[in-house]
Amino acid sequence: MHSTEILKNHGIRLTETRQKILNTFLQSPEALSNEDIEKSLENLDRITLYRTLKTFEEKGIIHKIPNSGNSPMYAICQDNCTEHQHHDSHGHFHCLECGKTVCMDHTDVPGIKVPEGYKVEQKHLILEGKCDVCS
Ligand SMILES: [Zn+2]
Ligand SMILES: [Zn+2]
Ligand SMILES: [Zn+2]
Repeated sequence: MHSTEILKNHGIRLTETRQKILNTFLQSPEALSNEDIEKSLENLDRITLYRTLKTFEEKGIIHKIPNSGNSPMYAICQDNCTEHQHHDSHGHFHCLECGKTVCMDHTDVPGIKVPEGYKVEQKHLILEGKCDVCS
């Protein structure tokens, strides 16, 4: 899908910056951090980037992937994510050598029993090791 269409479908007003940031995600086979995006787009204001990522996350365009070292990574969502409702319950692989993080779209995170009265809102499964290039 084209970036303008994605923004429209998620009720986000089209701006050049939003479109550029979204295109960066669409063109990347791996998850991106703040720094990755800053590096690939020139003259990008940090605050704008921060706000855009937040909006994209809230509207169901990208999902956040926590990682054990530095800053969180973000990856494009599957089509069925909507505002305040993410369906990205897949695992992620983080390569400890080159640092890349990829979505493993076909691995479902197993259900884990939580104590009585607890409610799970998000599940994260992060596998760490070496990717195919580094191993
Ligand atoms: Zn999502
Ligand atoms: Zn690697
Ligand atoms: Zn993912």
